[in-house]
Amino acid sequence: MDQIISALANNKNIRVMVADVTELVKTAQVRHQLFPTATAALGRTMAIASIMAFQLKNDEEMVSIRIAGDGPLELIRVDAQKNGNTVGFVGNPSVNLINEESHKLDVGAAIGKGQLSVSRNYNLKHEFTSSVDLVSGEIAEDFAFYFTQSEQLPSAVSLGVLVDETGSVLSAGGLLIQMLPGHTETDILMAEHVVKYLKPISQILNEGMTAQELVESLFDEVELVDGQPVQFVCHCSRQQMERALKTLSVEDLVGLQQEEQGVNMECQYCNEHYHFSTDDITEFITEKYHAKN
Ligand SMILES: [Zn+2]
Repeated sequence: MDQIISALANNKNIRVMVADVTELVKTAQVRHQLFPTATAALGRTMAIASIMAFQLKNDEEMVSIRIAGDGPLELIRVDAQKNGNTVGFVGNPSVNLINEESHKLDVGAAIGKGQLSVSRNYNLKHEFTSSVDLVSGEIAEDFAFYFTQSEQLPSAVSLGVLVDETGSVLSAGGLLIQMLPGHTETDILMAEHVVKYLKPISQILNEGMTAQELVESLFDEVELVDGQPVQFVCHCSRQQMERALKTLSVEDLVGLQQEEQGVNMECQYCNEHYHFSTDDITEFITEKYHAKN
């Protein structure tokens, strides 16, 4: 089962968070028909987004991540709520770049040069955005830089998605180690040591270790703080799509009314389709007409 575990280590000087998001990334891959490199890029971003969302204080709060680069993937968007609901998409799902030397999925080349932006929203209202230039486009490095730069918390980030020969997801996860205010030089050295000898997170999860077991194995004295499941759940709704349709002019709605099959709207984030019949459109036109007069 997908979950996030949050813990404190070294006299509460180090925060350790691990997310197993294997099922989440499998769902995203199927929903958006993602090629392997696109899967890895979105999966890594979903892993860190769910970890960041778990740090929020309110259930109504959400972390929105936007990575825009000049590579073929174009864009990554992920929204994650504190309750574990996480969803996202990429600009171009058909990207499959393999690094010629390492033979690994080349997420850095898929994204290219660009920017990483993190917004925190409350009740879907925009609140605060912070952006940094991408370091490598490999995502983990980019977020480590973001945490150090924007949040002044020296951090180590490990993100990974493992796929089999057919491109299907075997495991996906993320690890965040953050130095909290009051940390000492010894804490930094210990964290560096842990990171240096750490296997790729996706490999660890694929070998059968749970998120909690991994957290407990990293430092000697670990105090578990909290945990929760993570799931692919979107914040879209039929009402939201209806509101969007109703913002159209009467002329545009009359145009849509001519479509015999009605109107299909899809949510970019989860690829859910919403159908509105000609009768629905007629109703919206009547409503708009009455509102005007
Ligand atoms: Zn949706």
